[in-house]
Amino acid sequence: MPGTRGSVVVVNCGSSSVKLALVDPVTGERSLSCLGERLGTPDAVVHMTTTVGGEKRTRTITPAATTHRGALAHVLQRLLDMDLPPLLGVGHRVVQGGSLFRGSVRIDDRVLGQISELSALAPLHNPANVSGIEAARAVLPELEHVAVFDTAFHQTMPEASYRYAVPQRWYEEFGVRRYGMHGTSHRFVSQRAGQLLAEATGADPRRLKLVVAHLGNGCSATAVLGGRSVDTTMGLTPLEGLVMGTRSGDVDPAVLELVAERTGEGVGEIVRQLNSASGLLALSGLSNDVRTLWDKAAEGHAGAKLALDVFAHRAAKHVAALTVPLGGLDALVLTGGIGENAVGVRSMLLSRLAHLGLVEDPAANAAHGRGSLPEGRITRAREDGSGPLAVVVPTDEELLIARDTVELVEHR
Ligand code: ADP
Repeated sequence: MPGTRGSVVVVNCGSSSVKLALVDPVTGERSLSCLGERLGTPDAVVHMTTTVGGEKRTRTITPAATTHRGALAHVLQRLLDMDLPPLLGVGHRVVQGGSLFRGSVRIDDRVLGQISELSALAPLHNPANVSGIEAARAVLPELEHVAVFDTAFHQTMPEASYRYAVPQRWYEEFGVRRYGMHGTSHRFVSQRAGQLLAEATGADPRRLKLVVAHLGNGCSATAVLGGRSVDTTMGLTPLEGLVMGTRSGDVDPAVLELVAERTGEGVGEIVRQLNSASGLLALSGLSNDVRTLWDKAAEGHAGAKLALDVFAHRAAKHVAALTVPLGGLDALVLTGGIGENAVGVRSMLLSRLAHLGLVEDPAANAAHGRGSLPEGRITRAREDGSGPLAVVVPTDEELLIARDTVELVEHR
């Protein structure tokens, strides 16, 4: 990558939104970023931010077409008309790579067909990813397109971690197993944490035992042993594990039967509510945003306080559980909007993990995030260097997607 000059188009197509960025794979700079919202409705809009000479300019455009595909094609077309750095390739975030994809791959018709077939495992996400790839390939046919999977980093999990104890047929015929998500973030953050810890303590990154907690709107934690994922909290879909902004995380599956009987709702509708009407939002009855909950809890709002308590309790429980496949802990690594910024929530989490030797350094914790120190230690270090640390490391999934893309384009 040293000789690389130019930008990678990074595309992240969600079910009703599209994010697109032009990322310099060496410096991580964004010369352009777009967010398309409410796609598929008459209110579709695209916010486009360009950065020229350090100066940001944002404008909102109404795409000529309101469909997902149409909006992305419209944005890409406008991009071609702009005075931008040379385009090196297009990196697509793809949610579900199943057991097929253990790393990032160049996209051809066969790979696109496989991603489409994997929609059975991720019906909300992969079809949107496929539309994004099709639209981008149509507008930028001369560039290489690369798929970077959310699941790929977790393909190193041993069977004991990825199998559910369910009937064999579900696994063999339907692919019912744990795949894990947020893999791009966990990979990026664990690599950076490895560098930081090697510099700070002389630790060998190939032996490090890390638990990475990605706490954003979606939340997951991963046990990373010597740079490889050995267990994670998300499962077949992003619904399993920690409490999230609007997702429930773990629930007893028998809840579905009880709610179906009481409401007459179908399983699909109940699962939709577990994904988008649960989590912090449901517990607080107020918001899925930790900033709001923190302020309201301070004013005495019982729901906000409960939501934060359940969130911290569940997160701490999972972090501790993930020390089992690691056989210990060198560092807890916190990332995502909450992990990087929410000083108070980090404090709640650490206070529940003191028995593991994680003792908050309140000044260091307060100094990280909110535009101050982006990365570093937030627990006290013992004088003899023993015991685990907690560190904050900002994630950058787009940068990792850009880097994987260039790597594959250059090694054609
Ligand atoms: P996504 O998963 O959608 O990328 P983010 O990683 O941006 O989401 O995380 C969103 C969460 O991070 C929200 O709960 C938000 O309240 C929280 N957050 C973002 N910035 C701050 C901040 N400065 N202080 C506290 N919490 C924050």
